[in-house]
Amino acid sequence: MQVKVIKDNCIGCGACQAIAPNVFELGDDGLSKAIVNPVPEADEDDCKEAIESCPTDAIKEE
Ligand code: SF4
Repeated sequence: MQVKVIKDNCIGCGACQAIAPNVFELGDDGLSKAIVNPVPEADEDDCKEAIESCPTDAIKEE
């Protein structure tokens, strides 16, 4: 799977990074970004949980 953070929607809460630290990282702008694409199979479950947990629905699977 491939993921993308829609920066306009991200509020920098850090939930995705806490849930899937291998996939998401808060950047210097305080907003999240995907640090691996495609997401390794071993991290897909965490990634899906992060997508569901994002309060602003800012993470899209591509
Ligand atoms: S969970 Fe959503 S709003 Fe929070 S940092 Fe991640 S992408 Fe941004």
